[in-house]
Amino acid sequence: MKNYYLSENDFSDFVTRMISTKELIAPIAKGPRFVFSKIKSPSEIRLDYDVTILPPKKEFFPPRQNLVKFSSKGYEGCIDPKEKILFGVHPYDVKGIDITDTVFENNKKDMNYLANRRAATIVASNIQKVSSRAFWDTVGADIKAKGHDAFLTKISDGYHFQTLTTKGDALISCGKFTAATEKQSSEAKKVNESVNGTCPEKLKHSSKDIAKKVRDSFSKKEMWDKMAQRCFSCGTCNIVCPTCYCFDVQDKWNVDQTSGVRTRYWDSCLTEEFSKISLGAGHSENFRESRGSRYRHRIMRKAAYLNETLGGPACIGCGRCSSGCTANIADPVEAINTIMEVK
Ligand code: SF4
Ligand code: SF4
Repeated sequence: MKNYYLSENDFSDFVTRMISTKELIAPIAKGPRFVFSKIKSPSEIRLDYDVTILPPKKEFFPPRQNLVKFSSKGYEGCIDPKEKILFGVHPYDVKGIDITDTVFENNKKDMNYLANRRAATIVASNIQKVSSRAFWDTVGADIKAKGHDAFLTKISDGYHFQTLTTKGDALISCGKFTAATEKQSSEAKKVNESVNGTCPEKLKHSSKDIAKKVRDSFSKKEMWDKMAQRCFSCGTCNIVCPTCYCFDVQDKWNVDQTSGVRTRYWDSCLTEEFSKISLGAGHSENFRESRGSRYRHRIMRKAAYLNETLGGPACIGCGRCSSGCTANIADPVEAINTIMEVK
């Protein structure tokens, strides 16, 4: 771990140099909101963003990803990772990437994800503006963000840049960095600590107590049905979530009817079709037919089912689901605080 300093005036040159070496993905404005996108010029970057519409996992696990091309002669995989720098990732999204890393590394490794992930350098950045639905400081607060290669912090007259891996060290040659002074490193520490406790939404209980109570509430059908009463089953809460990783696989055949491509698409357990299975002979079964059972499944996944595997909840408190839900019922804070109060 090494600490560097970059002056405000040298920031543009640093970004320009990075763009000339690899694809640079960073937060940019899209209307009044923000997205992670490929950068052509340093002036596009908005490190003062609150939260992006989609999480940065899309760079490794895109919404639509070809897996295999096939023909009568055989098949070939579509893994073709591009080296890129993912720049300006907030610590809660670093935790989200760490969760998808664990999930795609576990059991049988998913190289379609891992090849993209391993080709990336991740530069985290401090949170300059807190989003209106965020609660990252009260969910899994004891879990440290890890897996990033460097951490950039805006300090009074420039930037503090901490490198954590050899990939992070490699970026130093792109800018006019100097060794950070103790004063600059201590200012960066204070800047990062100062955002704790500033999230507008708060969970009132520990992750452990929440996981137990949520699991124990499985059979409270009336409660789940009431919570999901206004659900449109649109799936937005899954699609915007950094820790959702389900996908659907479809084969598309070319007109020759001998070749085609197998593709995966993000899927959503809140939609009615997700848990519908074929029984053959035109029959089907839906094992989560009601909105309440699908809503319950999502909260169980975020707050209880994966806790042992991940060492904490499968929610990083970004608040994307809360702001994306038309019915305003997807907020995990409201759902969990309600569950915790039901006798
Ligand atoms: S909870 Fe909200 S975002 Fe999620 S499926 Fe229902 S209506 Fe859509
Ligand atoms: S459940 Fe909602 S708040 Fe939690 S990680 Fe997913 S989108 Fe973010």
